[in-house]
This record gives sequence, C-alpha cells and structure tokens, in this order.
Amino acid sequence: MVTLNKNNQTAIDYVTNFINGQWFEDSNRYLGLGFDDGAFNKATMKGYCLEEQNNVCCYCSREIGNNNHTELEHIIPRSVDTENALQPYFNLSNLLAENIVLQESFRPSTVMQVTPPFPHHIAYHNIVASCNGITFKSSEYFTCCNRKREDDFIPPYNLIQNNIMYLHDGTIYSTIDTTYEEQGIQYNSITHLNLNKQTLKNIRRIWFLLAGTDVTINQLTQAITIDDYKEIFTLYLRANPLKVINDNNLIDSFENETSWKILMYYKYFLNYFRNNY
Ligand SMILES: [Zn+2]
Repeated sequence: MVTLNKNNQTAIDYVTNFINGQWFEDSNRYLGLGFDDGAFNKATMKGYCLEEQNNVCCYCSREIGNNNHTELEHIIPRSVDTENALQPYFNLSNLLAENIVLQESFRPSTVMQVTPPFPHHIAYHNIVASCNGITFKSSEYFTCCNRKREDDFIPPYNLIQNNIMYLHDGTIYSTIDTTYEEQGIQYNSITHLNLNKQTLKNIRRIWFLLAGTDVTINQLTQAITIDDYKEIFTLYLRANPLKVINDNNLIDSFENETSWKILMYYKYFLNYFRNNY
C-alpha cells in the first residue's frame, strides 16, 4: 500500500486546465467533462499517478506500468452521487474534504466554476493507479484490489499517513480498521480488498526473509534461469536464520519460474522490510 501527499502541482494544473477547456462560453455550460467522455486524458493522469507511486499498485504494491493492465482507481467511486455518501471519505481525509465535490453538483453549472473543489470523477486528488486485480485470478481463484472492491466503501488508506503496517508473517493491517473495530463497527476493509489472501502473505513473507539478508536488488533482478533462482534460494533463503520450520515448504513452493516471476513483481517489499524491521 502506498501513502500519498497528492501535491503534484503539474497534475493539479492539468485538471484545472482541462476543466476550464471544457467550459463553453456561448452556451454557458460544461461539455465533455466526464471521465469517459473522451477529452480527459487517462494516460496523462496515469503518468502522474505512477510517478508519485513509484510504479506500484496503490493497494497491493505490485509493479505496474503505463499500459492497459493498469487502471485508474477512484478513491471515492464514480457511483457515489449524494453528499451523504461523500461524508465518510471527508471525515477521514481533509485533502478530499478540501478538494472534492460531486461530479453531478459541478457539471450542470451555468456559471464557470473556480477550482478547487474539483468534480470527483476527474479530480487528481481522488485518483490513484491500481493493478487490474487479476494477478491471481486464474491460479488462485481470487481477485484483489479494485477488482475485488468494486464500488464499496473503503477508507481512503492511500491518503492517511502511517496507517498501514505489515507484520513479519506478511499480514497487512491498517490502524484505521482497528479504530473502526474499537468503535464497534465491524469493517475489515483490508480483507475486503483481498490483501490478506495467503498467497499475498506468502509473497511478503519471502520478501521479509530476503530483506534480512544482504542480497542485492541487482542479484534478484538478474536471476533469469532456474539455476539462478536456486542459487539465491540456497544462499539467502534456505540458510536464513530468521526462517522458522513452516518456511521450508513456503520456500520450496517459490522455487519455480511462475512463482519467481510473480515474486519479482512485489520487490517493493524488499525496501519496505529493510526500512521497517
Ligand atoms: Zn494491486
């Protein structure tokens, strides 16, 4: 999970200029202001999001690029169409409260608006880049991230500093979810994104073990053949002093091409665990 400040002025200016460009003086109205209307440049927005997210998925931290496999995720879903439904997001994020207005409050305006606030379908503050959620769909039979969430409420995790933590066994949890539980509201949103599926926990556990060794990122990315992985597994994982008995089977299960390739998509966690031991 990435935590963001959403303060890229170039991206803010891009949205401001886009909105101003869709104002038609002759008819006193906005036209083509929608996310899917064609004028809004999704690849440009994706570029801004990927840059500030260091090219990883906002939720699972899988590596993503500026292509069709990467999706733009709305923190406040586009389907939200009432002020009441906005409020839970605003309560958890001042950034959203200060910068976002309902698309349908903004779009029908008959006078040119000053931004912020920005309509939520196209607001940079409300958009993050996500993987397509199908990494494990065929092999493990589950989807994750925005594919699992659909339009349900989840807290704006990406906008709340220091709320996400990973345990050494690979579990992800959020202090926001804990707060909800203390208030008597059962809402485990992390589970709702499928981020604690055993496969994802296993991947993070392997990264935790690797992070405790002096293996370098170059050694990992240059491992291409099965012999290369075997060497790394032998040197850094099998002999790892942090390893517990259950890790033996886990390590075995990763020593093949498919698992290795998937593991490498999540190398974000090498630095995460090195910085947060
Ligand atoms: Zn993801």
